[in-house]
Amino acid sequence: MEAIVLYPSPAIGHLISMVELGKLILTLKPSLSVHIIIFTPPYDAGSTSSYISKVSATIPSITFHHLPTITLPPSITHSSLHHETLTFEVLKLNNPHLHQTLVSMSKDYSISALIADFFCHAAFPVTIQLNIPAYIFYTSGAGSLSLFLYFPTVHRITTGNLKDISTHFDVPGIPSILSTDMPKPLLERHDKAYEYFVESSTGWSKSAGIVVNTYESLEPTAIKAIRNGLSVPDGRTPPIYCIGPLISSDDRSGGDGVPECLTWLDSQPSQSVVFLCFGSLGLFSIEQLKEIATGLEKSGQRFLWVVRNPPSKNENVARFAQPDPDLDSLLPDGFLDRTRERGLVLKSWAPQVAVLNHDSVGGFVTHCGWNSVLEALCAGIPMVAWPLYAEQRVNRLVLVEDIKIALPMTESENGFVSSAEVEKRVRELMESEKGNSVRKRIVELKNEAKAAPSEGGSSRIGLMEFVESWQRKPR
Ligand code: UDP
Repeated sequence: MEAIVLYPSPAIGHLISMVELGKLILTLKPSLSVHIIIFTPPYDAGSTSSYISKVSATIPSITFHHLPTITLPPSITHSSLHHETLTFEVLKLNNPHLHQTLVSMSKDYSISALIADFFCHAAFPVTIQLNIPAYIFYTSGAGSLSLFLYFPTVHRITTGNLKDISTHFDVPGIPSILSTDMPKPLLERHDKAYEYFVESSTGWSKSAGIVVNTYESLEPTAIKAIRNGLSVPDGRTPPIYCIGPLISSDDRSGGDGVPECLTWLDSQPSQSVVFLCFGSLGLFSIEQLKEIATGLEKSGQRFLWVVRNPPSKNENVARFAQPDPDLDSLLPDGFLDRTRERGLVLKSWAPQVAVLNHDSVGGFVTHCGWNSVLEALCAGIPMVAWPLYAEQRVNRLVLVEDIKIALPMTESENGFVSSAEVEKRVRELMESEKGNSVRKRIVELKNEAKAAPSEGGSSRIGLMEFVESWQRKPR
């Protein structure tokens, strides 16, 4: 029987995206003819077990294979490595297990392709050895993909740390980008994560193809630049398959019944509420939380705001394992009382997709995580872009200057955003001509987001071409 192996990196968000990709492949290949095998992360990545059980119970053609836990050498466990570096290191150490597992699976299955998360490029030597076509699944957009593909060129033409220079770079397919808006791990040349990213993005060029969670009419300039080879000026550009928008159908809202915030939204006027939510890892200092509160209060707008505890001083407390916040101690005195009539603060988590699709929501202040962006697009909700980590500053640039579906939140040099800026941007989004124009634009793109994955749409065609590509490969 034919099998496709999906290899996510160790984070629940990446696992969920891979499952969605698996489900998408199954819509083309009837479940009787292909089996999807997902290799689960080799080290503890938060609570994935209940999610995995749910998927296994409902989709028999998807099975999970747990790779053995890795014992990290002391040089890794005892150092203060960036999260990204740790991920790359772990995945490299995983190769012997990967090799062994693929060899033993080959006795029962004909493995047509391995689709690796963009952190899992270390798997390539194994797939080359076993003659399995290897693809990259890039879970963000074509704009940031172009940047990563072009980054080995930036590396070659620069010498110092990008964080220390204030230079603009002309990256193919996206507006001119300020060096400090590049993804954080790329800012320090001597950082191990920087080395890994240069190595990975050079290596992606050798893949059988890159699957991207975008659609043709959303990022035409970036997609064209990549396909025309501009992002990899000195090397090979692999085929690019745009299959998005692929968004999670798992709401992760936790409990049963209708969440309180949706009932609250029922009582608010149509398109009147601004929703503030910052992904699975977005955290603010107490000072910043107070500033947001003051800005929201002064804006006079209705709001639904997800508040988390500030980052723990203890580095060992995982960001996703924070306890619920004590709102009274974090927010300004009397804020909750004064805004009771028009605002609701949620602790830690919101059922984001349901919230964005509620008729009362009219705007979204987001950290620009790509899933959040696509979810807002599919719901037709305009954004204020406030990037916090990963490639989100690149996404802000693309959303504000190229696609024009977001207004920028402007930080001061140390990254702090004043209450005046929060007040101004939230008002602008909900009440001004500028806000109206991003709203109109996102409604147009929402219709295209719906059409792209439908029969005959560009993403459906992209998916078909992707599946056909591994069937054409000589083995
Ligand atoms: N999310 C959610 N509720 C929250 C925060 C996040 O449902 O309170 C979901 C959101 O809908 C999205 C994912 O978590 O699907 C976050 O992914 P994204 O790529 O936006 O950001 P990341 O967490 O990877 O930085």
